[in-house]
Amino acid sequence: MLSPSSLKRPGEPINPFVLANYRVRTASFVMAFAIFAAHWWSNGAGRLLWGLLLLQFFVYPHLLFWRARRAPRPLDAELKNLLVDAFFLGLWCAVSGLPVWITFTLFGATLMNVAFYRNLLGALQASLFFGAGVLAWVALGHLKFTPDTNTLTTGLCVVGFMVYLLVVTSAAYQRSINLRDTRRELRHSEQALHHANADLQAQLLENQHLQIQLKEQANRDPLTGLYNRRYLDSTLAREMARCKREGHRLWLMLIDLDHFKNINDQHGHQAGDEVIKSLARLLHDQARADDIACRFGGEEFLLLLPHMTPAVALARAEQWRQAFADTVTEVNGQRLQATLSIGMADYPMNGLTPEDLIGNADRALYRAKSQGRNCVIAFSKTVRSTPAWSATVPGLL
Ligand code: GH3
Ligand code: MG
Ligand code: MG
Repeated sequence: MLSPSSLKRPGEPINPFVLANYRVRTASFVMAFAIFAAHWWSNGAGRLLWGLLLLQFFVYPHLLFWRARRAPRPLDAELKNLLVDAFFLGLWCAVSGLPVWITFTLFGATLMNVAFYRNLLGALQASLFFGAGVLAWVALGHLKFTPDTNTLTTGLCVVGFMVYLLVVTSAAYQRSINLRDTRRELRHSEQALHHANADLQAQLLENQHLQIQLKEQANRDPLTGLYNRRYLDSTLAREMARCKREGHRLWLMLIDLDHFKNINDQHGHQAGDEVIKSLARLLHDQARADDIACRFGGEEFLLLLPHMTPAVALARAEQWRQAFADTVTEVNGQRLQATLSIGMADYPMNGLTPEDLIGNADRALYRAKSQGRNCVIAFSKTVRSTPAWSATVPGLL
């Protein structure tokens, strides 16, 4: 006899509905055989009928299973199998003379079977196929109506029908439980997905935040917190272009601490660092929102001051020079004071490219150093300086 495992092709899962139906059909057909056997035993039947009964109720279920398993769409094939069942059961009822108990039991079971999958449409289809089975026998002209059944047959019908009802009800119950569990699992998965999504969003935000921080750090000088040379390189040309667009001047100031080596030599490198930080603080605190203050090199700073007339720019440079000269930096109980020199150049008057502008500011700074330091010199064909120096500063750089 064929069994589900012997029919299963290796590695291929059996459709669960096909398998469940196979088990129910195999078991219920044994019951149906018992009912027909009890009926025919008392009515007398030939060998052919017994042979056909055996084929129908013991071989046929396995053939149907074999067919459904190999079908490209096993569930559709199994639903067709249920209609084939209806046809044959109708035929057997007709062959038996439509005994009421047997016909009622098998017709009822067939209806439930198909309706379980296809609702009322299924019940209608099952009725039509069951009826077709009966009509096939009628068409052959053999129908002999014998509605009564003996006690054993009637008893088997009642028990069989009750058992079948229980099986179908239990399957329906199980199906609804599975559905409820599936829905619950779906809800949980949905919530988990929601949380994972929220976590991902938070992580993305954190990453963005970190990226911004990293970018900011990459543009900052670690000692002073001011912008670094790298930032200046990417900004100066842009600032010049902006000033060109808006028709403004852009002042560039190069600031260099005077005799800074002496501070390092006399008070140590750490003291030098503190002086550098003092100057950075001063520049930062007194800068406007539009100003850009960078640490250009060791003890050199560069300021970009847009939207400023020459007089105001010179006044501010002088203010910084004076303020720093007055600044006292305390390091390990020592009070340090230093001075600075400033060279200035403006766009577009003193340079149309970043290189020219920085070069001319550097020339002015060089001049400031050579004129004794602690002063401000603006680059010009005739060098300008702060009022204190202008009288003494000669012409060209
Ligand atoms: P000048 O007035 O001509 O500018 O004299 P100077 O001594 O300042 O000469 P210069 O500008 O050439 O020397 C800069 C010194 O600054 C040399 C270097 O040791 C020191 N320096 C550069 N970076 C740092 C830093 O980050 N910390 C400290 N403490 N010193 C630095
Ligand atoms: Mg220097
Ligand atoms: Mg110096």
